[in-house]
Amino acid sequence: MALKPRHGPEPVRKAIHVRSGDNVVVISGKDRGKRGKVLRVLPKVNRVVVEGVNVSKTHVRPNQKVLQGGIIDQESAVDASNVMLVCRSCHEPTRTGVQILDDGRRVRRCKRCGETIDR
Ligand SMILES: [Zn+2]
Repeated sequence: MALKPRHGPEPVRKAIHVRSGDNVVVISGKDRGKRGKVLRVLPKVNRVVVEGVNVSKTHVRPNQKVLQGGIIDQESAVDASNVMLVCRSCHEPTRTGVQILDDGRRVRRCKRCGETIDR
């Protein structure tokens, strides 16, 4: 799978709405409807790796890092636009807004219930 950004002008580096550790739900593709935890965020290619989503079998040879070779399940990245953040308060998939706190911190906010997502 191609993970390189497209050629052309410098892409606009847009912040991804999810962070590692977030719970998300997949909204398109073969894993639509699955929920999982974000393992990795790849901002350069606007992709995220989600636990249990886009899993394929990989054949691994034993080496210094992996003592036991064999066939293992490996998650691949999915496009960040194909996942929605699951709100901690209302437990629904939601879009996020940004709220600026009194101390100047920018936190994400659930657009569904209005609850602050980051502390
Ligand atoms: Zn909410």
